[in-house]
Amino acid sequence: TNQELGRLLSSIEGQKYSDYKRMKGMYDFGKYQLAIDHVQVDPFAPPSKMRIIMNRNTAGIPAEWLDSKTKIIAVSDFLTRAFWKAIQPFNKTAKGTGSSGLILIDRCGQEILERTSVLIKADSLEVRFEIGLPAAGRRILGKAAARIFEQTLPQVVEQALLYHNLDQKAMKNQVVLMLDQAYIREELTRKQLVAFVADGSVLPRESGVSDKPLTGAIPFTSPKSLEIQLTLPSGKTITGMGIPEGITLIVGGGYHGKSTLLRALELGVYNHISGDGREMVITRQDAVKIRAEDGRNVEKVNISAFINNLPGNKNTHQFSTENASGSTSQAANVMEALETGTSLLLIDEDTSATNFMIRDGRMQKLISPDKEPITPFSHKVKPLYERLGVSTILIVGGSGDYFDVADHIIMMDEYRLKDVTAAAKTIASTAGYQRESVSTSQFGDISSRIPLQTSFSRTGKENRIKSKGRHTILYGREMIDISGLEQLIDDSQTNCIAVMIDFFKKEIVNDKWTISQAADRIYAHIARFGLDAISPYTGHPGNLALPRKQEFCAALHRYRGLKIKD
Ligand code: ADP
Ligand code: MG
Repeated sequence: TNQELGRLLSSIEGQKYSDYKRMKGMYDFGKYQLAIDHVQVDPFAPPSKMRIIMNRNTAGIPAEWLDSKTKIIAVSDFLTRAFWKAIQPFNKTAKGTGSSGLILIDRCGQEILERTSVLIKADSLEVRFEIGLPAAGRRILGKAAARIFEQTLPQVVEQALLYHNLDQKAMKNQVVLMLDQAYIREELTRKQLVAFVADGSVLPRESGVSDKPLTGAIPFTSPKSLEIQLTLPSGKTITGMGIPEGITLIVGGGYHGKSTLLRALELGVYNHISGDGREMVITRQDAVKIRAEDGRNVEKVNISAFINNLPGNKNTHQFSTENASGSTSQAANVMEALETGTSLLLIDEDTSATNFMIRDGRMQKLISPDKEPITPFSHKVKPLYERLGVSTILIVGGSGDYFDVADHIIMMDEYRLKDVTAAAKTIASTAGYQRESVSTSQFGDISSRIPLQTSFSRTGKENRIKSKGRHTILYGREMIDISGLEQLIDDSQTNCIAVMIDFFKKEIVNDKWTISQAADRIYAHIARFGLDAISPYTGHPGNLALPRKQEFCAALHRYRGLKIKD
């Protein structure tokens, strides 16, 4: 019981830090159980992992808000944020060595993700968090620890987990918002759209390091030609821009807000919290941002749709390199996105290789096709849509090469959109501006690569996999650089990818399934047994946030030890 915990803590006051180990176990606090799953070895080690387990009736959240997966994610996210908020005042006063006295829970950003921080089951509610057990030097501060468990934590639970103390209106709004968002995303497919941006949305962010909305921004308005109206499950009717399937070109002068719009579309694969400004910016769930990523590793990818006749007769049907160029990396990124499965590519000139994107008429005259290995994306974007059904939204401000092939051309003019399709098409067909028709009718083949078990035959420390921040996964001493994945938005997603790769190498890879099929197995496993099920730990599963299949596969693709069946 909780008295036992109190007695234990006062009895080890002033003892050596490792005596905290005796705390491991379950304690009854009346309204909830406390599970201490893991105790840190010293005050500088990662804080100790614990869970609060509560009966769902005690928490009192109405059942009607928990009767679907979407609602459960919305409520879990809300409770994680409430818990985070409730611990802040206490953390300000924490003192002692290392992490002494800190209470930590996974931190949510502007997006609502499926996480392991709060688990809601049929009859229980579980919160996973960490506490830095207090110490002076390396000596136990048992009384301070007892205060955390007897006073602080019960107060946090009261504030953050009991329905009657919560901001009920805000919680309800979050559930209703997420149902609307899910509906819009389904509506996209039904209406043959790839993205929606509601009028009034605020797209720019406060700064390069803050994801909060920019104050004083010019709100989004749809060009008349693309305007649609939607009636949402909440009863609200909204208007905004519906971008149809096909090829959409965004043009406009520098600094007019093109990249800001595309960035919002990239992140529209996620749902945003109320007040973010992008909560009604919704993109197809499988949309992939494509960029150049020179230096990346590529293993046996068929990039022949774009690249042929490389110097030295290098094979582009099974193209491998440890150090890709701008154009080959961008070609590989497109081909891998198609291999994983996507219905929409998003491309920004700012992060593209020019020679991959365009080749103008003069250059075509100077360099004969058999000397130029690259078929630019402008020649392939149409067959990509017509043959494979994959749409593209792209920004090209510096060239008219896409005028012929684009279905819609919209111009950003001082942060306001105009439809300029007709004007651009007229220019494209005017004598003197015409281009030779070079669009190919076929797209080309896509690889379906089978990873080999031998890619992961490592032992001991070299077989350990963990994340380091947002952009790095460490496999043994080897670094997997995933900084090119712009749609990965949370450290806990990276953490989750590391755990998923570990699960993949232990349970899934079998020399038979393709990377995409293997990934589907993992997602099916998670859908069935929960995100906890891939964690190697019992009890506290760590801070995991579910990444998309696109980012999980992309991380594997960047692993330099990856071996592919011939
Ligand atoms: P481009 O890609 O066209 O060169 P950016 O999207 O990079 O332009 O935007 C340029 C600047 O304008 C950025 O600092 C951005 O935050 C700001 N900005 C973008 N959209 C808006 C808006 N709707 N209202 C106010 N400022 C904006
Ligand atoms: Mg830009």
